[in-house]
Amino acid sequence: MPLNQETVLQALEGIKGPDGSTPLPRSGALGGVVVKDGRVFISIEVDRRLATEAEPMRERVEKLVAGLDGVASVLVTLTAQKPAGAAVAPAPHAHSHVAPAPGPKAQAARAGIAVVGVKTIIAVASGKGGVGKSTTACNLALALQALGNKVAVLDADIYGPSMPRLFDLKGKPEVVDGRIMRPLDAYGLKVMSIGFLVEEETPMIWRGPMVMSAITQMLRDVQWGEIDIMVVDMPPGTGDAQLTMAQSVPLAGAVIVSTPQDLALIDARRGVAMFRRVEVPILGVVENMSTFICPSCGTETNIFGHGGARHEAERLGVPFLGEIPLALDIRTTSDAGTPVMVSAPNGPHAAAYKAMAQGVLDSLAGQNSRPAPMIVME
Ligand code: ADP
Repeated sequence: MPLNQETVLQALEGIKGPDGSTPLPRSGALGGVVVKDGRVFISIEVDRRLATEAEPMRERVEKLVAGLDGVASVLVTLTAQKPAGAAVAPAPHAHSHVAPAPGPKAQAARAGIAVVGVKTIIAVASGKGGVGKSTTACNLALALQALGNKVAVLDADIYGPSMPRLFDLKGKPEVVDGRIMRPLDAYGLKVMSIGFLVEEETPMIWRGPMVMSAITQMLRDVQWGEIDIMVVDMPPGTGDAQLTMAQSVPLAGAVIVSTPQDLALIDARRGVAMFRRVEVPILGVVENMSTFICPSCGTETNIFGHGGARHEAERLGVPFLGEIPLALDIRTTSDAGTPVMVSAPNGPHAAAYKAMAQGVLDSLAGQNSRPAPMIVME
């Protein structure tokens, strides 16, 4: 029998769904079955409160599918269904002045899939591509490490994973214990990238359940060890995939990267709104490609304007984490796989990234010591 979605579904008829009697494919819990080149991705939706009870079912599915003809690899993930009444809050109305502070429900949801060993997870996000989000994520992670933290990087940019290039990582993660992956090491950071899992040249259509599966696998099935801060490089933009991710990763906060132009700032504002919608605190806004420093004469020019992100951060009532100039050596070191934090750790750019990292730590500390801040919407 050929291996396809149909044959997998047929096999799954032999497994009982979460109620213990209805076959899984008819139980309504099957979120998605994707079969591609012998690789099978399955997601099962369960009430998050029953996640532990559902684990044996997940294992049975994995074992059964692994035994089917033609299966090279199988990934079965439990995706937490929101308990009744905990649906995503609607976007704040344009003229509402005060949005509620993160409620206990959202905090519980975020804590629901905490990653073993990882103390804090933060997202680096942008309203659109090309603003230097990945470059910032990579150097910010190194700067957090320089300040004495154990740091991991999870490259979740499903549209264009950059960490293999930024850190010059060519290998694949080693699989230990059957399905647990060992992250790669880059300058002391533990790095996992969606780019290690999918072939670079293969275009992938990311369906909702696959996004969830891939993220869940990279969070849970990786031997992270003890980590103080994990930096997640999010896919750019504010669409469904980004929203799904913002909800499914237990984020302590998000850093928004923007360039100073008005258009980029409008997108950055959307980014801030998206995280607020899922009640993830904004740790701050960064202005990347701020002023241009001429490599030959050192003159500073404000190619895209300057100071827009600082102003925007003030307007939105979120911290401003600093400016990173548009500098040739930031670009060349990124492309060479030797980020500027590594190649010039005592230079001015490294100092700017370290100040940014300190700002992130301050925002995180402020969150823990203060009552949840009131969020003022325009
Ligand atoms: P994104 O993740 O937002 O798509 P990248 O981090 O991949 O953006 O950056 C896009 C391009 O801009 C890359 O070639 C990168 O080297 C370059 N770049 C990013 N930040 C800077 C900067 N501050 N100065 C110079 N080049 C930069």
